[in-house]
Amino acid sequence: LVNQENISQLAWQKMADLIPAIIQHHATGAVLMQGYMNQASLEKTLITGKATFYSRSKQALWVKGETSGNFLNVKEVLTDCDKDSLLISCEPIGPTCHLGTESCFPEQKLTKQNFLSQLEQVIANRKNDDPKDSYTAHLFSRGTTKIAQKVGEEGVEVALAAVAETKDDLLGECADLFYHTLVLLQDQNIELNEVMQVLIERHKK
Ligand code: AMP
Ligand code: ZN
Ligand code: ZN
Ligand code: ZN
Repeated sequence: LVNQENISQLAWQKMADLIPAIIQHHATGAVLMQGYMNQASLEKTLITGKATFYSRSKQALWVKGETSGNFLNVKEVLTDCDKDSLLISCEPIGPTCHLGTESCFPEQKLTKQNFLSQLEQVIANRKNDDPKDSYTAHLFSRGTTKIAQKVGEEGVEVALAAVAETKDDLLGECADLFYHTLVLLQDQNIELNEVMQVLIERHKK
């Protein structure tokens, strides 16, 4: 874990004051971008909580998002075994790539399990959309009771499909249940990771 106290212990000398920083999405694990940080930019990153790089082309500190508004809110800064590289976990505000994609590596394959986290992000982005344009936004606009009711219905449909319907029906109902559960969590401002943490804690026992 890198913080303001131990920042000087990184291999700045070996790297001529320029250490590569890999930016990773805190929830999906997707690599969003890579940039370089000097000591001043890392300090600024840790103080402000916004990823700040050293731009070699501009030869100046660069707060990612300073013109686009697409900031990277920093959750955690890690370094590697020989302290010459940074792995920074971030919550992105909008698309990270200046070409408009969420990641600068749009072709990367995330695991299928990770798709739940990706879907969580999509659902979060729909929260303030016009209910006429998006089914998810429509669900949010109907309020917590209706959202919760939907989860209950889908749970029953999963159970019925398992005992009386086809495998395809069961797959579809499970997908419905997962989706509506993610909508409910978002409505309650709960992160999927918090649920995962409960499962992890139980597993330890
Ligand atoms: P921004 O920091 O998002 O306000 O973008 C300002 C400028 O930084 C853009 O016009 C690009 O030149 C550059 N830039 C933004 N995002 C990236 C990125 N992910 N990778 C490389 N350059 C970027
Ligand atoms: Zn290394
Ligand atoms: Zn890019
Ligand atoms: Zn259903």
